[in-house]
Parts: sequence; C-alpha cells; structure tokens
Amino acid sequence: MVVCFCGELTLVKTSWIPLNPARRFYACPTKDSICGFIRWVDPPMCARIKIIIPGLLRNINTLEERCNGLVRSINMLQKQCNGLLSRNNMLEARCDALKDEGFKLKMYLCASWFMFVTVIFSIWSM
Ligand SMILES: [Zn+2]
Repeated sequence: MVVCFCGELTLVKTSWIPLNPARRFYACPTKDSICGFIRWVDPPMCARIKIIIPGLLRNINTLEERCNGLVRSINMLQKQCNGLLSRNNMLEARCDALKDEGFKLKMYLCASWFMFVTVIFSIWSM
C-alpha cells in the first residue's frame, strides 16, 4: 500500500505519454489535487519499447477508427437494406393485386367468349 502526501491510498494509473508509454505509477486518488504525488510502479522502459508502444497505440487507434467507419457503413447498408425490403414487400403486394386483376380479366374474357359462342349457335340454330 502506498500513501500519497494527502495521506490517501494511491491509485495505480498507467502513463500513455511518449516518454513513458504503458508505464504504471502510483498517483493521488483525489481529482485535481495539488498533492502531486507520483511514484513509478514499473521500472523505466528501454528506448526501443518507447518507440514500439506508441507505434502500436497509433495502429490500434487507426484500426479502431477504421472499425468505427465500417460499423457506420454497416448501419447505413442496413438502413438501405430495410428500405429495399419494404419496397420489395410493397411491390409483391402490388404484384399479387395485379395477378388477381389478371385472373378476373381472364374470367371475363372466358365468359364473354362463352356468351359470344352461345349467341352464334343460337343464331345458327334458328
Ligand atoms: Zn494526495
């Protein structure tokens, strides 16, 4: 247990500045405190790690931005897909209505031919 100048139990935080990337330290738990207590938990990083970790962090940030962009694209495509599905449903309903109308027209055509043939036969049979 490490206590700061205020007498509080310190928190373990992680530094992400380029000089000490991913290096943990004890800090005063009071936010905006003037205590200023800092003690390193981890030993100093070697120069190579100080270069590698910020590069990896940049790569992670770039990938997260790309991932967020892809998520936005997926959401946009999902909206477009939903719009197309509703339009498809509308067109299918219209197609069904047209099929019903076509069936009625066929029935009228058959009935009119039947009436025509009946009239012709009745005229011939006179
Ligand atoms: Zn403190």
